[in-house]
Amino acid sequence: MRRLTYHEPQSMKDAFALMEGHGDAAMVLAGGTDLIIEVKQETKTPDHLISLRCIPGLQEIASENGELCIGAMVTHRKIEKSELLREKYSLLTDAVDNLGSVQVRNVATIGGNICNAAPSADTAAPVVALGVKLVLEGPAGEREVFIEDFFQGPGKTALAAGEILRTIRIPTLPEGACSCYIKHSRRKAMDLPLLGIAVIIVPDDNMVCKEARIALSLAGPVPFRAKKAEGFVTGKPLSRDVWEQAAAIALGESNPRTSFRTTAEYRKKMICALIPRAAEVALKRVNRAWMKG
Ligand SMILES: Cc1cc2nc3c(=O)[nH]c(=O)nc-3n(C[C@H](O)[C@H](O)[C@H](O)COP(=O)(O)OP(=O)(O)OC[C@H]3O[C@@H](n4cnc5c(N)ncnc54)[C@H](O)[C@@H]3O)c2cc1C
Repeated sequence: MRRLTYHEPQSMKDAFALMEGHGDAAMVLAGGTDLIIEVKQETKTPDHLISLRCIPGLQEIASENGELCIGAMVTHRKIEKSELLREKYSLLTDAVDNLGSVQVRNVATIGGNICNAAPSADTAAPVVALGVKLVLEGPAGEREVFIEDFFQGPGKTALAAGEILRTIRIPTLPEGACSCYIKHSRRKAMDLPLLGIAVIIVPDDNMVCKEARIALSLAGPVPFRAKKAEGFVTGKPLSRDVWEQAAAIALGESNPRTSFRTTAEYRKKMICALIPRAAEVALKRVNRAWMKG
């Protein structure tokens, strides 16, 4: 492995100074579960690693002005253990429950999962469904970027040189919302998804859909919302038939590719199968009768 200089700044200000000083030769290090592998494989070749682990304020989950704020250095394990997230944002805990192993989840962070921008990132579809805003900080100050503007292609993001993701801000979900993320993979553990489906549903008392959000990963170059399918479900009874039709519409909005792990054709079939299944799981969580039709 190449020789690297490891830095442990104690503040964002010190981190920016180091990044400015070393320019392109420096990279931000969070848990290292993606980056260290890439450094070993020499697909990334920084000379300096700027660790975020000693910077205060990046490891907390807190409510702020009606939004839930997750620090970029919050580990997947902390999300998995959060009762608040499990109850209110089940799709996010679904995403981390089967991410890597406990050892990986203990060090890997949500910020790293988002900033690495791998098409297979398990938190990608959930954060897109949640419509999160990302607080990015650089030497010149702070800016907020909507999640759908952040992902710009496989491995490409809206992060400017020298910027660090500080916080993931989750807007409050409407009252009565239920959600689910399905990771479709060959194995139950230690495997990356072939497809990721996240749904959020807001049913009314008669099981008519007040609002629906459907986000997919590995069904196009970046994770996205199937907005036509969402529009189709809204105002309709939450029956299996409606969700099957919505899945067919979502398929039309998708553009999955054949990769070394599976074919586009297989991904297409699974989009149709898994959207109704994700809706079913989400609705069961509100403990209401499902599938009238
Ligand atoms: C055995 C194993 C199994 C895995 N299984 C899964 C899986 O099932 N699902 C899945 O989605 N992933 C999986 N991964 C990948 C990895 O664990 C996750 O993507 C993880 O969330 C990355 O976070 P990290 O903190 O380790 O990031 P790092 O590796 O430290 O960083 C990743 C990238 O993001 C950048 N970065 C990190 N934090 C910030 C920040 N705050 N601001 C700006 N840039 C930043 C880094 O510079 C780097 O380019 C697995 C990895 C391993 C080794």
